[in-house]
Amino acid sequence: MTSVPNIGSSIGNLINGEWHHDGAERQVLHKFTGEVLAVAHDATPDVVTAAVTAARAASESPLQPYERFEILRKVADAIARDRERLALEVCRESGLTLKDCLGDTDRAVQTMQISAEEAKRITGEIVPIEAAPGFEHRMAFTLRRPVGVVGAITPFNSPLNTVAHKVGPALAAGNAVVVKPSPFTPIAAATLSSMLLEAGLPPGLIGLVLGPGDPVGTALVADERVDFFTFTGSTATGKAISSRLGMRRATMECGNVSGTIVCADANVRDAAEQCGRGAFRKAGQVCTSVQRIYVHADVYDEFLGHLVTSASALVVGDPEDEKTDIGPMISEAAARRAEEWVGEAVGQGARLVLGGIRSGAAMSPTILTDVPPAARVVCEEIFAPVVSVIPFKDFDEALRVVNDTPYGLQAGVFTRDLNKALEAARRLRVGGVVINATSSTRADLMPYGGVKDSGYGVEGPRYAIREMTEERLVLLEPARPLDGER
Ligand code: NAD
Repeated sequence: MTSVPNIGSSIGNLINGEWHHDGAERQVLHKFTGEVLAVAHDATPDVVTAAVTAARAASESPLQPYERFEILRKVADAIARDRERLALEVCRESGLTLKDCLGDTDRAVQTMQISAEEAKRITGEIVPIEAAPGFEHRMAFTLRRPVGVVGAITPFNSPLNTVAHKVGPALAAGNAVVVKPSPFTPIAAATLSSMLLEAGLPPGLIGLVLGPGDPVGTALVADERVDFFTFTGSTATGKAISSRLGMRRATMECGNVSGTIVCADANVRDAAEQCGRGAFRKAGQVCTSVQRIYVHADVYDEFLGHLVTSASALVVGDPEDEKTDIGPMISEAAARRAEEWVGEAVGQGARLVLGGIRSGAAMSPTILTDVPPAARVVCEEIFAPVVSVIPFKDFDEALRVVNDTPYGLQAGVFTRDLNKALEAARRLRVGGVVINATSSTRADLMPYGGVKDSGYGVEGPRYAIREMTEERLVLLEPARPLDGER
């Protein structure tokens, strides 16, 4: 076992299979008790350079697809084997409830399994070159080759599965990868890196650099030897990184102000319960978290009643307690910001129907109505357990307001009317339209990504592998006879 010695009191940076426990110390706190879980060492610019150098060198000798399959499959098995321990680790460093973390750990198993399988399915395509005049008797096809070195920069709100969504496809595609996790939650990324080494990954193919966005993330982005970036985080950070990439490609999974529409023909109780889960799960710290619910006026009161009833039953508290539904947010500062936005909305005329109570970093499930359209709680990503419920009369108008945001990640529509479902699919400008479930619905194998300020590029192992490979055309011309040959 190589994993445990590094994941105790001290978490180092990983370069070429060696853990380096130097660099400034940063405490990783239990987000509910405040106890120190570990000390992480910030990477210096030299450490970032060394991690990229090791990755660059390792990327020159890619593994065979069946070798990648074997390693990723072993890691999926290891995550499944250590499910409870990993979920508890993530629960403590993130404050997400144990229930949420068990679910995330199971999803990480899926993500690594699918990545393993996709490693054996990387194909190009036959190009019908003979159809072009002058190209008779030729053949052409495309190959997908690894980009080389992938830089993976990740947020705090899904510390294991988001890293798995980057590392799994990057390695499956034949790349080396250097991970820069959130400074709030480095433990899961370190554990996953250890598991990859244990599974037999050649050491340079995985690097880990710890610390804040600036200077550690910026140093990684500045290193031109990193060929591709896969980023998940806020839109502001995504834009800052994007502006520094030049001609290098990237996948940007950024923020959203997710809308879900509930039509009058829907099962209103089911829609309310699903919306409650989608709004308050992980204390609302999910990129697709239900933040705006547009409910048809005819069923508005009924819907609100069900939503309030189900939200009132949610338990806020110690995330390790299996009865807890909502743990603390990532920091007290984040909870204070959410509280301020709620207060501001109320000051502008919104009605606080439930919650709005903050205690330290914990925010109670909060439901607002009568929210003015310009209030921040409906215009900017709140990333907290706060939801606004807004009536509509006309379905066209509901589609328009869901679209009326700079963001476009996912949206949900509850209806039993096929025409409305198809209309929503055609007209909602988002990466994913979910019918009869909320915006916050994801299977790890599906294509997942945003448009507009929610980013670009697509995740889901099969699609991420396409992003993290280069397509190369091979054109076969008949060889001309040698001089003197017929
Ligand atoms: P964040 O943008 O603050 O940080 C994300 C990562 O970027 C961290 O590792 C951070 O250290 C790093 N970083 C910050 N500044 C950087 C810079 N200048 N250069 C390089 N790296 C830098 O995000 P967060 O608060 O950790 O996460 C919450 C955000 O993530 C929300 O906006 C949420 O919507 C988004 N998110 C999106 C998805 C998605 O799939 N679209 C999924 C989860 C979270």
